[in-house]
Amino acid sequence: MTFAEDLLAWGRLHGRRGMPWQQTTNGVLNVYWVWVSEVMLQQTQVQTVQHYFLAFIRRFPSRRALAEAALDDVLAAWSGLGYYRRARNLHAAARQLELNYSQNDWPSSRDAWQALPGLGRSTAAAIVASCFNQREAILDGNVKRVLARQVCAEQPWGSAALDRFLWDEAQARLPRQADAMPLYTQSLMDLGATVCLPRRPDCVPCPVSVYCQAFQRKASLEFPRPKPAKARPVRQARWLVIAQPDPRTGEFRLGLQQQPEEGVWAGLWSFPALDPSAFMPEGWAEWERFQHDFSHFRLAVGLWMPKPLLNALGEAGSVPSVQDSVPVAFGCSPPTFKTITDWLEQGIPSPVRQVLLRLAKSLQT
Ligand code: SF4
Repeated sequence: MTFAEDLLAWGRLHGRRGMPWQQTTNGVLNVYWVWVSEVMLQQTQVQTVQHYFLAFIRRFPSRRALAEAALDDVLAAWSGLGYYRRARNLHAAARQLELNYSQNDWPSSRDAWQALPGLGRSTAAAIVASCFNQREAILDGNVKRVLARQVCAEQPWGSAALDRFLWDEAQARLPRQADAMPLYTQSLMDLGATVCLPRRPDCVPCPVSVYCQAFQRKASLEFPRPKPAKARPVRQARWLVIAQPDPRTGEFRLGLQQQPEEGVWAGLWSFPALDPSAFMPEGWAEWERFQHDFSHFRLAVGLWMPKPLLNALGEAGSVPSVQDSVPVAFGCSPPTFKTITDWLEQGIPSPVRQVLLRLAKSLQT
């Protein structure tokens, strides 16, 4: 037996089934579904993706529907999944594919998929292995952990040297038969997600323990080798909560601004921001501070609001009045005003959503 044969035998019996993108028609996977799911799964867990995937597919049922949609609608459907660049790239890739391929036609080589926006080698390989039986290896985070343990890789996590080493290892372990690729690829992902867990690898029933050097050395938890600790830089920010009652209904509305086309939250809506060292005039006070971690830095936010609004929080039914000239006084471009309920339907980053929910709660208590 080989690593691939043992993994395939296990996958037939114990692999995860029933995920919406695994459904087939006459035994054929839906390439559009597999592609969308692979992009969603890049940085998000399966349980979370299932819910968002179904809603996304209902809203954009085909590649053409996605390509023809406005970017704002795509970002809104992505809201809550995070890493919004994925949604922008998915939308841009759908447009490229619509231009270059006829309706039911798709690229079948890894290179062609990798040339599309937002698709790295592993995601492109997962699509062509699953949908087109291509003998292409995947290497996502879970698979890296499995292989690093299989071979006791000494290179630290996150290093280019580890990636190079494991890509070769992943390619060398592929099954010989191309038609085994869909099940093999899924089984490898399943093994990493359900058996070879980061802190609790289930080595005794593991179907590939016989090949695993870390298991043989009773050192499963010592691999992969950790990356050297590095302090995450902190970026300070000051956000303004600007409120306005609706002139017709008197309903409480908040002003948010669309972020520029470049940056981590490109095209999303967020609170007007000031330089954290900017002078805050009389009549404004800080409501709260919070932190949000990005992969490369930590954002430390001070949330400021006019004192009448601050005083109104906690008073049920109160609609504080704030002058429209406030953003101008700070030199901000004018925000767009909507109710909190309406903002929660828009493309907003997770920390903004959390602030809106806390504000809504404070206004109701
Ligand atoms: S034997 Fe343990 S460490 Fe090795 S691959 Fe299986 S679960 Fe992971």
